[in-house]
Amino acid sequence: MKSRTLIILSVVAVVLAAVWLMTGGINVLSTPKGEKLLICSNNDCAHQFKAQLPVKFKDYPVKCAKCGERSAFILTHCKCDAPYPLNLKNPLEKCPKCGCDLPKY
Ligand SMILES: [Zn+2]
Ligand SMILES: [Zn+2]
Repeated sequence: MKSRTLIILSVVAVVLAAVWLMTGGINVLSTPKGEKLLICSNNDCAHQFKAQLPVKFKDYPVKCAKCGERSAFILTHCKCDAPYPLNLKNPLEKCPKCGCDLPKY
């Protein structure tokens, strides 16, 4: 009886996840179109630049316009207004400036 409930619950979870993905959740993972502000995640560089991005999140990091390394991510702001690179694979946990916890993606 118990294991049957578990199976039903996991089926419901999978269906909900599928619905979420189809109804807009996928937009989180897909391409933000147009010009984006990027920031290099190299501490020595930290170059900020704009780029037209036909780039999906899975293609990140993109090539930095200054140091030439594939280390640039979309620039995001902490609530203290400090810019930081949005690295989805290896996200920063603390703001480099104020040290507060950053939201998880
Ligand atoms: Zn750079
Ligand atoms: Zn901060």
